[in-house]
Amino acid sequence: MFMTVESGVMTSLPAPTTAGELRAAGLRVTAARVALLETVRGGDHLGVDAIASGVRGRIGHVSVQAVYEALHALTLAGLIRRIEPADSPARFEGRVGDNHHHIVCRSCGDVADVDCAVGAAPCLTASDDHGFSIDEAEVIYWGRCPACATARSS
Ligand SMILES: [Zn+2]
Ligand SMILES: [Zn+2]
Repeated sequence: MFMTVESGVMTSLPAPTTAGELRAAGLRVTAARVALLETVRGGDHLGVDAIASGVRGRIGHVSVQAVYEALHALTLAGLIRRIEPADSPARFEGRVGDNHHHIVCRSCGDVADVDCAVGAAPCLTASDDHGFSIDEAEVIYWGRCPACATARSS
């Protein structure tokens, strides 16, 4: 993060690499998008509220609308990945392009990464593809995280 003085106001400029990535992905570079990408990458499958407060912590007030807009644009551009386990609010992560899967706690909703055993999508071969050209098998493992398993058994 670089600090600069613009018209007497301290403004933080985006780190060149993050801004450059946005530009390379064909996106307009805004402070909100840069802060959002850094927040998502620095977090662990964050939900929208946590992302919004992370962005505000970096650049000050940002509307919820701007957060949703940036999430949408960055997801479409493939810079972040959206996961949406059943009955859970959407979460976002910066780990993209490796077809990893997720394990979700049924009790608290905690999410952890699980490397794909095969490494590339689709990692399961459909027993019958019905003539479709299949490019992904969405795999979510469900269970209880260690904390919730302990709480349950005690
Ligand atoms: Zn749990
Ligand atoms: Zn993940």
